Amino acid sequence: MTHPQSAADNQNPLLADWTARFELPPFGAIALEHFRPAFDAALARHRAEIDAIAADRAAPTFANTIAALEKSGHDLERVGNLFSVLAGADTSDAIEAIERDVSPLLARHGNALYLNRALYARIAELYARRDNLGLNTEQARVLDRYHTRFVRAGAALDKPAQDRLAAINERLASLGTQFGQNVLADEKAYALLLDEADLDGLPDFARAAARAAAAERGAPTKYAITLSRSSCETFLQFSSRRDLREKLFQAWIKRGEKGGATDNRALIAEIVGLRGERAHLLGFPTFADYRLDDQMAKTPAAARKLLDEVWRRARAKAAVERDALQKLITDEGGNFALAPWDWRYYAEKRRKAEFDLDEAEVKRYFQLGKMVEAAFEIARRLFGLSFTPVSVPLYHPDARAFEVKDANGAHVGLFIGDYFARSSKYSGAWMTSLRDQERLSGDVRPVILNICNFAKPAPGEPALLSFDDAHTLFHEFGHALHGLLSNVTYPLLAGTAVPSDFVELPSQLYEHWLEVPEILRDYARHYRTGEPMPQALLDRLLATRTYNQGFATVEYTSCALVDLDLHGLADPAGLDVGEFERRDLERIAMPAEIVMRHRLPHFQHLFSGGGYAAAYYSYLWSEVLDADAFEAFEEAGSAFDAETAKRLRQFIYGAGNLRDPAEAYKAFRGRLPTVDALLKKRGLDDVAVATGAPATIAS
Ligand SMILES: [Zn+2]
Repeated sequence: MTHPQSAADNQNPLLADWTARFELPPFGAIALEHFRPAFDAALARHRAEIDAIAADRAAPTFANTIAALEKSGHDLERVGNLFSVLAGADTSDAIEAIERDVSPLLARHGNALYLNRALYARIAELYARRDNLGLNTEQARVLDRYHTRFVRAGAALDKPAQDRLAAINERLASLGTQFGQNVLADEKAYALLLDEADLDGLPDFARAAARAAAAERGAPTKYAITLSRSSCETFLQFSSRRDLREKLFQAWIKRGEKGGATDNRALIAEIVGLRGERAHLLGFPTFADYRLDDQMAKTPAAARKLLDEVWRRARAKAAVERDALQKLITDEGGNFALAPWDWRYYAEKRRKAEFDLDEAEVKRYFQLGKMVEAAFEIARRLFGLSFTPVSVPLYHPDARAFEVKDANGAHVGLFIGDYFARSSKYSGAWMTSLRDQERLSGDVRPVILNICNFAKPAPGEPALLSFDDAHTLFHEFGHALHGLLSNVTYPLLAGTAVPSDFVELPSQLYEHWLEVPEILRDYARHYRTGEPMPQALLDRLLATRTYNQGFATVEYTSCALVDLDLHGLADPAGLDVGEFERRDLERIAMPAEIVMRHRLPHFQHLFSGGGYAAAYYSYLWSEVLDADAFEAFEEAGSAFDAETAKRLRQFIYGAGNLRDPAEAYKAFRGRLPTVDALLKKRGLDDVAVATGAPATIAS
């Protein structure tokens, strides 16, 4: 389908053909002023394409409806991908202004697409005749995915129900924004202002951060501890002042629950009510049923089964940890019971006593360049890939491009690593793409990015990583391989377009290879001497991986359980949020010394946006998968076993959304995963608990 281009479009480099090497965006020619008109033109074009498909006089066929939809929106995709890379990795006030302008347009565009009744009628007709259309397996999957997406968005409902759904969506969007802003307001409004004499126990880096935070708040002679997670957790971990720890902790867990204008409890009740109503409109008994129907887990019961199994073990392990910490308190002459604001402090003390791990010493063995090489080498040994640096214009001088080739020398795609922190970059680490793999419009090869925030060294100094940083690098590289190895025809199914409880499998799995002994021996080398890490240091480093995991697992799993229970209410009308949380924690027998990692009044994953509503379990679910998947290599006798790697590529890294995730996993592993490997990984397998049947995570 082609559209006449106006002269103005031709002068906008975002809309012209991209003829640079690897068909990268013409970075040198692009100005920010080009984005808004490019979005307008691309949106109009996509709308025209959709309207033409919906209004086609010809009876619906796979080609004139599904394939046509798959080919539509090319410009919007291209411009949108580029813009979102810049908005995340190299933003500015001007980019943020464009973002505020454009994001409601994009949201409205998406709504209009999925509530287009004429279009849905064509998809529904094809879906009804799906067994007689002569489709291949991939085409059948694409049709099924389109049908599911439209139905789940409400395309099949009558007009009044659709109108109500649209109103609910709009209200939920503004409630979500309000929720997040309230949490932020509570965090901004509070600071524990301290004097030098109050800082006992704090390491230098924490003092410097507290000093800077105080200066920012106009108190340059003081030290400020804020409610941001890093500031707060560091203080709780190191401060020997029990009174101050308690004061800070109380403020921290009360975010969103302080009464007044920023209290989130009424908002939560309304959000949960509206989500329940949406689920009912779409034919599901609860929001959790609706949400999980299109996940790998499929049902709340399946997710709950996993959580319950882990929960029993985690509680038992946390009890052992608690006793050890209490003993430490008593041995020191303390005459009090361990409280939630004490846990991190005594856990840190115990960690130091037992492992004596010097983070600075560990860092000298993890050079960024060497770790990138290690990630590449593993991809070579598993999948036959090679990575060659190429010099091409990109959006920032810190970003580096590598051409990726297959074992037979064929071009696979382009990988861009953008690793250093800078003020124009969002915090965190992520994988994204400028172009996704597909074969519908020619052999389209992917351009995949990893964006991280590692500290940039002074000129001439080596870039060194913590062990956690190295894990992050491998994690994001695993996502990158999911994009690079994608081997599908239809764009809808490409790469990481899989359910959220499956998408972390390729990333978390890749982290396992960082801890393979021969990889550490070859790549974790002292930046000055080139010596491998001494065995004793390595042993201590690996031993700390399971330290305090009872606490961490209880903190996390309690949130996932409360999330499922809350969104599993059949009739959430008149919900008292505080009372619900209290009772639910009582039901699961939450240990008194631990508080949920995110209490409901500030649980952003669930309520600002809603990406993880009824799906907070996803992280643990994926961890079950990655632990179990890596065991396949261990069982085969090598972390690089060729047969296992071949299946991994075919059914996981290369398979996008070609199959239902449970089917894909079974095809790789020969069976569904069990939680055993996860329990071992977290060190939860050695505690005595009442036994039940071993859990399998999906049926
Ligand atoms: Zn991830």
